[in-house]
Amino acid sequence: AKQLSGNRFQLYSPSQEERGIENVELENDLYKALRNDELNVVYQPKFNSKTNMIIGLEALLRWNRPNKGVVRPQEFIPLAEETGLIIPIGEWILRKSCEQTKFWHNQGFPHLSVSVNLSPQQFNQEDLVNKVQLILTETQLPAASLELELTENLIIHNTEKTLAVIHNLKELGVKISIDDFGTGYSSLAYLKNFPVDTLKIDKTFIDGLPDNPNNAAITNTVITLANSLQLEVIAEGVEKEEQLNYLTDHGCHLIQGFYYCRPLKPEDVIERVHTS
Ligand code: C2E
Ligand code: CA
Ligand code: CA
Ligand code: CA
Repeated sequence: AKQLSGNRFQLYSPSQEERGIENVELENDLYKALRNDELNVVYQPKFNSKTNMIIGLEALLRWNRPNKGVVRPQEFIPLAEETGLIIPIGEWILRKSCEQTKFWHNQGFPHLSVSVNLSPQQFNQEDLVNKVQLILTETQLPAASLELELTENLIIHNTEKTLAVIHNLKELGVKISIDDFGTGYSSLAYLKNFPVDTLKIDKTFIDGLPDNPNNAAITNTVITLANSLQLEVIAEGVEKEEQLNYLTDHGCHLIQGFYYCRPLKPEDVIERVHTS
């Protein structure tokens, strides 16, 4: 049976064929979604807890599927990865969020930066660096206002090529962060070779704070590691004040999560920037 999170269970498990049909339908719809303007981007702010100011925004994909409501990324990104659709979709969200951020700069908020998630497929395409450069040129967004979030698992594979790509991206002036840090299979050794800027502590570790001793130990280790390598560290998925307090007490002052703010529609961002 399909694995479901939490206490939910499923009495009926669709057969292989039914699942296949569902997937084909999803794939067709996703293909059209890009053309028909059904994809959009929401922006979740990242805060500095010392100043309570917004320091940046993470672009998150949403799909408004006709007659089915908003579909969350977990439900279609894996399929998009499998089918290669993630390449045009990823390029679309990159361009869209650079355009949007340039717009905010022009509105008088030049300190805002944007983070975009890169999937492994996207990262491995031959002309990624050129595409990023082209999009920055087209949108006139300063490279330093763009951060790319990569996952650890991407970094362990194909080390030499990966290193070269990250170097070239850094050369453009964009920032690199390691997303969901601590959940991958990599050794820590790669960190000293890769010119990354930020470690992002995964929500699964933040969830257990402050009471779960294992999560607390992992969190402290990542913060210490980041400090000693002179990297920034940010916590994702912070929902409660106790979690925030724990993190700030232990030296992590960059915070993202529902405690501060949920993902926002682009038109709601500036209002939130004003009140922060
Ligand atoms: P992620 O990169 O780890 O993004 C964080 C996810 O946690 C987002 O879910 C965000 O809405 C959610 N979140 C943030 N704060 C909290 C909180 O305090 N509590 C809870 N319960 N959730 C919180 P979302 O938007 O559904 O995205 C899920 C995943 O889908 C992302 O995980 C990312 O891996 C992927 N994704 C989203 N947009 C893109 C994209 O444009 N490209 C690629 N390749 N992946 C994307
Ligand atoms: Ca992310
Ligand atoms: Ca993350
Ligand atoms: Ca995560």
